[in-house]
Amino acid sequence: MISYSLLKTSGKARRGKITTPHGEIETPVFMPVGTAGTVKSLTSNQIAETGSQIVLANTYHLYLRPGMDVIGKFGGIHHFMHWDKPILTDSGGFQVFSLSGGLTKVTDEGVLFKSHIDGSMHHISPEISMQIQHVLGSDIIMAFDEPIKDDAPYQYAIESSQRTIRWLDRCIKEWHTLDPERKQSLFGIVQGGIYRDLRLESIHKTLDANLEGIAIGGETIGYNKERTKEILDWILDEIPCNLPRYTMGVGDIDDIFEVVARGVDMFDCVSPTRLARNGALLISPAEGGNKKNKYRLGISKAEYAMQDIPIDRTCQCYTCTNYSRGYLCHLFRSHELLANTLASIHNVAMLAQVCEKIRGSIENDTFASLMKEWIG
Ligand SMILES: [Zn+2]
Repeated sequence: MISYSLLKTSGKARRGKITTPHGEIETPVFMPVGTAGTVKSLTSNQIAETGSQIVLANTYHLYLRPGMDVIGKFGGIHHFMHWDKPILTDSGGFQVFSLSGGLTKVTDEGVLFKSHIDGSMHHISPEISMQIQHVLGSDIIMAFDEPIKDDAPYQYAIESSQRTIRWLDRCIKEWHTLDPERKQSLFGIVQGGIYRDLRLESIHKTLDANLEGIAIGGETIGYNKERTKEILDWILDEIPCNLPRYTMGVGDIDDIFEVVARGVDMFDCVSPTRLARNGALLISPAEGGNKKNKYRLGISKAEYAMQDIPIDRTCQCYTCTNYSRGYLCHLFRSHELLANTLASIHNVAMLAQVCEKIRGSIENDTFASLMKEWIG
């Protein structure tokens, strides 16, 4: 079971601490995504050295491959991936809807979907999602939900959002059966699309369940920047201050500041490692990073080939401490595997360092000026 303590606020931004069976997490925290039980191209030591305190693993991917018989044999995902710090697993809902190529049938019972790996048909229900996450043994598990598309019409958003609320009851019943000592903590997920009344209904019903954390989900969050802020403004004040709040799919630096400014504690995104593999390296304002260039530098460009300076001179990561832009440029142009590792270390470490700066600024009550420095 986890517990959350609120330590300090600066405006609505919150510095806190989550205690889990696998250690403490200082918040606000960015959680890198280990989709298939690996944060792509990084060993668990390398992940820890980036300053990451918790990783996210995907129920959908691990269920399809290697499968629950394998994970069960290894006693859970911590041992299997050799990571002894906290792990959060998602419910599988988002991938079921986004990866099965439209071949998804949703009923009140659950979701029938086609595997993106071999085309085989599978069924996930709220109960099955809880069973899978129980075998995975993550510290924080997510309720099974139907993430609503950003452009979902109102009528569909009503049906879907209410189904997610009904599914939450079934998740809770199954979780109590599987985990009577509450070693894992269940978070409910607020849906409701872009509709204020539905988001408010969803948050109130989710809070009624008395869980240990609240996630805010749906395709809109992290994808539609303006709507994300609006939705958070509608609902975050409804959440008691003793509960951690998690926005799913937020990983752009400006968005991190925007959600923290509204009182969010946790966020995850595949973007830092995905960008890294494409040679898009994160840079701070000191190196010219800003909202317009998305805090990115395209390291394969010829202009970096002769630069004997780190990617970012303010970054403390292993890559920036030991390697130059010129070397990284060469690795990417030569399609060397080491490029992925060094770039991923840097991008993940940058977000960990941004969060560390944010926590420090909340402590000193200077969050607003840090936000201005980073996003203008
Ligand atoms: Zn770095």
